[in-house]
Amino acid sequence: MIIPWLREPLARLMARRDRLPHALLVTGRAGIGKREFAREFARSLLCESPVDRLSCGQCPSCHWFGQANHPDYREIVPESAEEDEGDGVSATGKDAGRKSLVVKIEQIRAIRAFVALSTHRAGHRVIVLHPAEALQPAAANALLKTLEEPPPATAIVLVSDRPARLLATIRSRCESVTLRVPAASEARAWLEAAGASEPEVALALAGGAPLLAAELAQPEERDWRRRVVAELSRPDGARALAFAAGFDRAFLERTLFVMQTWVHDLVRVKSAGEPRHHVDAAPALRAKARRARLERLLALDRELLEARRLVAHPLNARLVAEHLMMAYNRATLA
Ligand SMILES: [Zn+2]
Repeated sequence: MIIPWLREPLARLMARRDRLPHALLVTGRAGIGKREFAREFARSLLCESPVDRLSCGQCPSCHWFGQANHPDYREIVPESAEEDEGDGVSATGKDAGRKSLVVKIEQIRAIRAFVALSTHRAGHRVIVLHPAEALQPAAANALLKTLEEPPPATAIVLVSDRPARLLATIRSRCESVTLRVPAASEARAWLEAAGASEPEVALALAGGAPLLAAELAQPEERDWRRRVVAELSRPDGARALAFAAGFDRAFLERTLFVMQTWVHDLVRVKSAGEPRHHVDAAPALRAKARRARLERLLALDRELLEARRLVAHPLNARLVAEHLMMAYNRATLA
C-alpha cells in the first residue's frame, strides 16, 4: 500500500520508534511523495501492531486512519480563504472552492488545544502540516512556540518543497528527512501500475517526480499542456492576447509550469543538448531554438520564476500571461 520508494526511508526512521525527534521536516522535490511519506509515518507511529515497523493496516488505529478519522491525528493545510484574496483576483468558476495558499494563526492555535488533551489511544499523537512554507508569519511564530516547548508524546511533521522559505528557527528545531527522486525504472513501474497513459512523457515532463507525473498524465492536464505547447511552437510566435483571454490564476499556474519547462528545454536544445521535459516535442523545440536568443531565454526564465513566486498573490492572471507570452515571442523571434 505504501509507495515503494518511501518504504526504505520510512523503515529507517521507524527503527528509532522509541527515540524519535519531536519535530520532523520532510523535504525533497515536488511530486515525489513527501506528503504521503508524512501520512505513512503517522499511520505507522499510531499503529497498534506494526509489521516490520510499518503500519499493519488491520488494527483499530489503522482503520480509523484509513477513514480519515483518527482522534490522535491532525493534518493542517491552507484553508479556503477567499476573503483574503481581495478584488484583484478573478473569481471565476475555476477558482471557486480553490484552497487559499496560507496557513493561518488560528489553525496553529487549534493545534495547541489538540495537544493539551490526553491521547485517545494512550500512545502517540501526530500532526502533519503541509506545505510548511504556507505558514503566515504569525502562524510561523505560534508554531515556533509549540516547537520550543514540545508537547509530550507528540510528533509534528512539516512538509516542504522549499525549506529555505521557513524560519531558520523552525528549521533548526526539526530533524530533516530528505526524500530522493526514485530511480526511473521504479517510477515508471509505479506510474504504469497506476494506469497513467504515456508514462515516459509524463515522467520526463515532471523531471522524474512520479506523483507530479501522475497528475500531469490526467486527460485535463495533458490537453492543457498540448494547448500551451501548440501556442509556444507557432513559427510566427504565440498569439499572446488571444491565448491569455479568459485566464484565471489556476490557468496561469499550469501555464507557467509548461512555459518554464519549455524554456529550459529551449536552452538545452540551443546549447546542442536534448530536451529533458518535452521529450515528445523535440522537432518543435529545435525549430524554435534556431531563432531564439540565449540571453533572452535566460532573462525570460528568471521572469517566469518570479511569476511563479507571485502567483500566490492577487494579480491579474490575464495580463501576466499576455506579458509573458510577448516576452517569449521577443526571446524566440530574434
Ligand atoms: Zn495497525
